[in-house]
Amino acid sequence: MAEKKLEELPGVGPATADKLRDAGYTDLMSIAVESPKNLAEACEIGEAAAAKIIAAAKQAADVGGFEPGDVILERRQNLKKLTSCSKALDELMGGGFETQAIVEFFGEFGSGKTQLCFQLAVNATMPFEKGGLEGEVIVIDTENTFRPERIVQIANAMEMDPVETLHKIHVARAFNSSHQMLLVDKAMEMAKETKVTLMIVDSLTAHFRAEYVGRGALAERQQLLNKHMHDLLRFGDLNNAVIAVTNQVSSKPDAFFGDPTRPIGGHIVGHAATYRIYLRKSKGGKRIARLIDSPNLPEAEAVFSVSEEGIRD
Ligand code: ADP
Ligand code: MG
Repeated sequence: MAEKKLEELPGVGPATADKLRDAGYTDLMSIAVESPKNLAEACEIGEAAAAKIIAAAKQAADVGGFEPGDVILERRQNLKKLTSCSKALDELMGGGFETQAIVEFFGEFGSGKTQLCFQLAVNATMPFEKGGLEGEVIVIDTENTFRPERIVQIANAMEMDPVETLHKIHVARAFNSSHQMLLVDKAMEMAKETKVTLMIVDSLTAHFRAEYVGRGALAERQQLLNKHMHDLLRFGDLNNAVIAVTNQVSSKPDAFFGDPTRPIGGHIVGHAATYRIYLRKSKGGKRIARLIDSPNLPEAEAVFSVSEEGIRD
């Protein structure tokens, strides 16, 4: 069922709908969870009018519902784990990368984020016995760094048919952040016909960072990123898929998170990602992965390498 448009809310005409959208309230949920005071200020409307709009959005928004614990348990019993081809990294993740969860790789340029995504893409097409997910892969490529030739190298190293493997990896370039978010809806449609067990967004944050610059744009950026992350998590839940996203640590200080070693999107991305892995280069081409803030695993590190064959110990 399609969600109501903002204009369909009682008391919201085209002009108010435009004001809402301009202020970053692009969907009903973002309005439903807002306070009348904030909404009134952001849209330059009266507080009473804002309260009415919020009440209407609460009625109309798909806010989800409660599920019995046994239903959740059943879904979690379907959890699968995807191998990375590095024992150390798999162990760090409690036996591999879990479906129905988002893993965020963050680190500097060249730290191995995209290489890890390539390896996971190949592995997701493998049988369960080999640590795969027996499915197909969706890649949302925002930086034009997808290289089929690299997939061929990695597939060959696994003694897999490279063309067959490539055929199962579906790539879309995202031209801007709205396009990027729209592609998740598109992926959701595609997943009705194709078994998609891995979704990659590389990079999750680059477009958002480029488009929403400065302190004034921060609230909107965070709100959109938050929605994007929740759409991704929903995709993972519904399709029993792994969601892997990358986030480049900015070398320039962020408008808000001044510390250059902090990933952009800050706590919004951090809270929505189930697992965050900080990647850094080490001696002799080695990479160090550090698991941060996991809900169920200890903070720890693993060493792996990136070679012509792909990811290895
Ligand atoms: P980022 O974190 O910016 O996405 P990448 O994952 O693309 O970085 O990592 C790039 C690095 O991966 C290169 O600097 C190189 O060390 C390694 N790499 C890429 N391709 C190969 C290859 N074919 N053989 C060996 N190492 C490679
Ligand atoms: Mg990259």
